[in-house]
Amino acid sequence: MDCLFCKIIEGKIASSKVYDDKNVFAFKDISPQAPIHYLFVPKNHISSLAQFTDDTMPVMEEIFAAIRNVTKQEGHDKSGFRIAINTGQHGCQTVHHLHVHLLAGKQLGGNFSGL
Ligand code: 5GP
Ligand code: ZN
Repeated sequence: MDCLFCKIIEGKIASSKVYDDKNVFAFKDISPQAPIHYLFVPKNHISSLAQFTDDTMPVMEEIFAAIRNVTKQEGHDKSGFRIAINTGQHGCQTVHHLHVHLLAGKQLGGNFSGL
């Protein structure tokens, strides 16, 4: 399968890693929309939230735990942050390997401005 994020997870394409455990990997977005812009991905390929099943649900818990750890470690738990999961065509998902955006490090725009 030709998947950009699978290649990043496997180290075939370079990325700036920010988190790595058994089932979850996170790295800096190549085109950051805020001072902190990380992408959290399941190591096993799942194309989007729309493809989620009960079997794949546990990794979501691990992703949220990873986000909690990273945001706490970097102090964003105090200042605040945003996560987003673009899904499918209407959600403007461009890379079809499920990923959770973490945006932080500045006052972000008003909720859902620009929709
Ligand atoms: P989406 O639009 O699918 O929710 O988000 C895909 C994200 O992946 C975009 O924010 C884009 O900047 C990021 N991205 C695309 N290609 C690469 C890459 O090769 N390396 C990294 N680190 N991020 C990428
Ligand atoms: Zn993949």
